[in-house]
Amino acid sequence: MKLIGILGGTFDPIHYGHLRMAQELLQALKLDEVRFIPAANPPHRNQPATSASHRAEMLHLAIAGNPQFSLDDRELQRGGLSYTVDTLLSLRKELGKSVSLSLLLGSDAFLGLTSWRRWDELLSLAHIVAAHRPHAAPNPKNMADLLKALWQQHTTTSIEDLARASCGKILLHHITPLDISATQIREELAQGLSPRYLVPESAINYITTHQLYA
Ligand code: ATP
Repeated sequence: MKLIGILGGTFDPIHYGHLRMAQELLQALKLDEVRFIPAANPPHRNQPATSASHRAEMLHLAIAGNPQFSLDDRELQRGGLSYTVDTLLSLRKELGKSVSLSLLLGSDAFLGLTSWRRWDELLSLAHIVAAHRPHAAPNPKNMADLLKALWQQHTTTSIEDLARASCGKILLHHITPLDISATQIREELAQGLSPRYLVPESAINYITTHQLYA
């Protein structure tokens, strides 16, 4: 079965926390590819600081050269609020039922899952893989009741399970903790500090050329 990982986000800007998480999950879960899906208008947070086209272009530059990474711009094309359930429905329509789809999330995003639109349908469309992010290690003690119940019903610790079915499992997976956030990068750029070694050089050059986050 083909295995595809999907990493959604605002990517405002893309940073090594995103890229390393995608790379480690690609390898650990034996995925064939990871698709990065920038949100047009994320429903659960402030509007992004930069336009969708700038965020997509930085993402495009950052993943260039990795044949297993690609940019999927369906949320930008669709416009409006970017609900993950709509994205998964459109991916399923395109890919059919026999592809294993894994929604890759940082653990902070996973802990907020039950506030997402039609969250209870997500596992009928994809697996959910939550990668540990510093300060947000998911465990039954910090999961809200609804999430805990969902996790208990669908949890697996076996990576092989993601290849046995096309959807329906939740896997919590440890990755190298990188305490990098786009918020911190935007704040530092606003103070005139360099995001070197947190953001790929190609994306930094783009930020400089277009005077983003100044
Ligand atoms: P912001 O600081 O603006 O909220 P962010 O750095 O969290 O941004 P997003 O684009 O919102 O970046 O994140 C997209 C996805 O990547 C989310 O699932 C998030 O949890 C995950 N992610 C972001 N940074 C990391 C990191 N350092 N380690 C692991 N996962 C991460």
